[in-house]
Amino acid sequence: MAARMRTFETSTPEETVASGEALAAMLPPGSVVALQGDLGAGKTHFARGLARGWGGTEEATSPTFALLHEYETPRGKVLHLDLYRANDAEEIWAAVHDELDADKGLLIVEWADRFPSLLPVDAVRVAIAHTGEGRRTITVDR
Ligand code: ADP
Ligand code: MG
Repeated sequence: MAARMRTFETSTPEETVASGEALAAMLPPGSVVALQGDLGAGKTHFARGLARGWGGTEEATSPTFALLHEYETPRGKVLHLDLYRANDAEEIWAAVHDELDADKGLLIVEWADRFPSLLPVDAVRVAIAHTGEGRRTITVDR
């Protein structure tokens, strides 16, 4: 299947959340979404949109310190992982990926690019670039 690229240009954090929400509507259950971008790029805002789009009612916040946040939704569990501070990512990855139901739920990974070999080949890759004050260019490759 040919890669499908799509770009969102946002000028506010809310628009980045809305972009995540829009992407969630297009993803099949069991998807893995890898978020790439510098600190403050907007990965957590985009993840918040994904979780909301999946039907989550809790506001997703940064899992940088906890490593993993989980949100129950009608479409299954949203797992939100952040590998920024991870060292032994292989173990963490295995545990979290095992928890992802292939027929239900969603796995979102911030800083996935720190451990590129862990990502499944069919992961949806989202790169967020800071392009100006308040502006972000979000490229989705799936
Ligand atoms: P990351 O998880 O990539 O470190 P966060 O989503 O936690 O980033 O934070 C993004 C920061 O950038 C927030 O302080 C947010 O208010 C700010 N921001 C400014 N413009 C945007 C935008 N267009 N999209 C997302 N965040 C933005
Ligand atoms: Mg973050």
